[in-house]
Amino acid sequence: AKAQGKNTLQFFTETMNEEAQLRLFLENELRNAMANEELYLNLQPKVDLADGTICGMEALLRWNHPERGMIPPDHFIPIAEDTGQIIEIGNWIIRTCCDYIVRLTEEGYGHLNIAVNLSARQFREPSLIETIKMAICESGIDPTQLEFEITESMLMDKVDQAIEQMNQLKRIGVTLSIDDFGTGYSSLAYLRQFPIDLIKVDRSFVQDIPYNSGDMEITAAVIAMAHRLNLRVVAEGVETAEQQDFLRQQLCSYAQGYFYSKPLTFELLVQQLPALNRQ
Ligand code: C2E
Ligand code: CA
Ligand code: CA
Ligand code: CA
Repeated sequence: AKAQGKNTLQFFTETMNEEAQLRLFLENELRNAMANEELYLNLQPKVDLADGTICGMEALLRWNHPERGMIPPDHFIPIAEDTGQIIEIGNWIIRTCCDYIVRLTEEGYGHLNIAVNLSARQFREPSLIETIKMAICESGIDPTQLEFEITESMLMDKVDQAIEQMNQLKRIGVTLSIDDFGTGYSSLAYLRQFPIDLIKVDRSFVQDIPYNSGDMEITAAVIAMAHRLNLRVVAEGVETAEQQDFLRQQLCSYAQGYFYSKPLTFELLVQQLPALNRQ
């Protein structure tokens, strides 16, 4: 038993070292990633379930490391949060998405919106409001075309401050959504106080439709509640026709997922838009 205990400890410290080393490596590499243009955005279309047309996209960050290849955002965004690099990266994402909206308008898609994920640190940063105002002003876009996704847990951290920050964002005129709704802490009691436009139902509730009746009940209830609060609903992670049919029956406003399209580069998206709209 003693020997085993020692082995376990040895294994533990080795794993810790490996993890810490990888973290340090990514932290250093991330410093150059922006300058070397290793970071880029993918856009995943959102579909209007009423008529099947594309209504907008979500911007998803990608890191293609020259040696390590694609590094998932779940791995490096938490690091960028800790080091504060997320502010610089996040500002670049906001400016890039404003630029995409301008280019989409030039291509004849002026009705599409782009949703940007905000990280917790970015959301709490007081300069965020000025950054967004400037980006909108410089690009000349309609602020409603720019959407910000804020997760439920970010809102529940310091609720009063979060509501004030959301009010400031709404004063600029941007669209606001609650991401990953139904996971994290329950924000149900506050939902009426949040100045939001949309709720995004988390993929975990959608993925087992139509096989998990509990998930179907919850999804239907969230959509019904959102309607009563005058909020629109996006269902994420839609992969099958059955899921789409169920969501349409429940009068869910929008759907997003591999059933329609994987996240695409801006160039590919513009190429695919005519075909996507014809589906
Ligand atoms: P999220 O905001 O919940 O984004 C949705 C994730 O689901 C994306 O993963 C997307 O590629 C994936 N997805 C979309 N449709 C489907 C589907 O039908 N099936 C399955 N299995 N997955 C689907 P991704 O791109 O790996 O992003 C993971 C998370 O990283 C995001 O979760 C978000 O929390 C974070 N993230 C991504 N980009 C950014 C960013 O620019 N800023 C910040 N702060 N966070 C980001
Ligand atoms: Ca999101
Ligand atoms: Ca989400
Ligand atoms: Ca999610």
